[in-house]
Amino acid sequence: MSRFEGWLLRHVAGRVVRLAAGLAVGTVAGRAAGWPLTGAVLGGLVASFWTTLRDARRAARLADWLHGATDRPAPRERGFWGELGYRAERLLRRRERAIEAERERLRQFLSGIEASPNGVLLLDAEGHIEWCNGVAAAHFGLDPRRDLQQRATNLIRAPVFVAALQEGVFDEPVTVPGTADRGTLQVLIRPYGHGMKLVLSQDITERERAEAMRRDFVANVSHEIRTPLTVLAGFIETLAQLPLSEVERQRVLNLMQQQTHRMQALVADLLTLAQLEGSPRPAPDRWIGVRGLLDTVRADALALSGGRHRIEISGGTEAEVAGNENELLSAFGNLLTNAVRYTPAGGAINAAWVWRDDGSACFEVSDTGIGIAREHLPRITERFYRVDGSRSRDTGGTGLGLAIVKHVLQRHGGEVIVESEPGRGSIFRLALPAPRVRRRVASNEPLAA
Ligand code: ADP
Repeated sequence: MSRFEGWLLRHVAGRVVRLAAGLAVGTVAGRAAGWPLTGAVLGGLVASFWTTLRDARRAARLADWLHGATDRPAPRERGFWGELGYRAERLLRRRERAIEAERERLRQFLSGIEASPNGVLLLDAEGHIEWCNGVAAAHFGLDPRRDLQQRATNLIRAPVFVAALQEGVFDEPVTVPGTADRGTLQVLIRPYGHGMKLVLSQDITERERAEAMRRDFVANVSHEIRTPLTVLAGFIETLAQLPLSEVERQRVLNLMQQQTHRMQALVADLLTLAQLEGSPRPAPDRWIGVRGLLDTVRADALALSGGRHRIEISGGTEAEVAGNENELLSAFGNLLTNAVRYTPAGGAINAAWVWRDDGSACFEVSDTGIGIAREHLPRITERFYRVDGSRSRDTGGTGLGLAIVKHVLQRHGGEVIVESEPGRGSIFRLALPAPRVRRRVASNEPLAA
């Protein structure tokens, strides 16, 4: 017998005892009056009525509690009703705890989806929004509270999205414009449950931009290679078909050599860029003397200028920079050769290593050359961006020099800063952060100009 059956038995026994007591008392009292049977019936009725009334009151209190006030403890009755209340309360609390645990799991589950970098939207069978995470709200311009239960196609009106939902074609992701036409989203719809849909959105603006850049880059490289190749093919044809004098032949060969050099320079710059992109960041503890770097690039600049410019390089004798020597040589050298190439003969070029108060430093190259108009400045470090294409090519430029410089600086935690005025000249600064530069004991050798 279970514990509860025990309680029930005791409850019934109690009622029987009370009835028996009522009958006995009624019989005794009735006998005194000469109506023992009537007394017994009355005693029995009174006992039953009293017991029933007490049970009814206890049952009513329990029913009241069950009906609405279950956050309070169950009525503390004695006997069977108390046990019933206690058991109901225990069951209720257990259910409440289970529901709370489920709610907590749901909360954690939703906060997991909330943390997703992708937008997640749940639609019911009628296409109403059941739930959405913050990313989806930002992607589609939704209000996660206000727009719940709204029809998704009333709020996300991109025709491809509406068509996909209406036609039920969910095989391929669709591309839709983001909020306020900023950026592009890739949206994937997946059916689940009974007609419900999971809508996943991903911001592909960057990916598309990178893809467009890659296409542009390939087109630019092809164009840059095709031009000298066409010229070379023409010269080869000329050499093969026309009887040329020795002077003409020499002239054609010189021109062919120029085009070959142009392609070689382009391939060399492309390889440098590829290496920069494919190799790890330069070590932060590989210290290189700045003086040595400046000496090397100075020699190259002097050779390129051939005495047509005044070139001065100062500072840096006590400085060291942490990074990759070849990359830094390429960055410093590019700025100096650009200064030579874009400064007419007779102009001046000054390069200097300058310490800043916060411990950082910069390599600065100023020239009195042709300068750059303000509207070009934001773009001149882009690959193949040239202000004046023919001048760049005539002076052996590939259009990749500043892109390489910018890349090198970024890899060293620095940046390229440009100031320029057309007709007056330019200043290019390569700013390197404090952790990448340091002073060592100064050497006495002056850096010749
Ligand atoms: P390029 O091989 O064409 O010189 P860069 O990437 O080195 O390519 O430079 C990009 C463009 O920036 C150049 O085509 C030129 O128009 C401009 N430029 C760079 N340096 C200078 C400078 N010192 N003075 C004037 N214009 C410059």
